[in-house]
Amino acid sequence: MPQEENDVKTMTCRQLGGPCDERFERQTADEVIEAQDRHLREAVRAGDASHREAHDEMKGRWRHPRQSMAWYWGVKRTFAELAEG
Ligand SMILES: [Zn+2]
Repeated sequence: MPQEENDVKTMTCRQLGGPCDERFERQTADEVIEAQDRHLREAVRAGDASHREAHDEMKGRWRHPRQSMAWYWGVKRTFAELAEG
């Protein structure tokens, strides 16, 4: 089996500032962030109030990308330090 297909790491909604333990298994931090954004949008659309605060923060990050770099690099660093698998 090719190595790159196994090169997946897992982060949770909670690690990304959200309220639940939904797991995102992706190859890059950017893909994890994308998956979390989609998860937050879907949760809020489904009426899940517990995800609203994280959803608003996510929207704020897109509006103010410069101020959000610390969050972004924190996620990148956490992801880089994760064990694979
Ligand atoms: Zn969640």
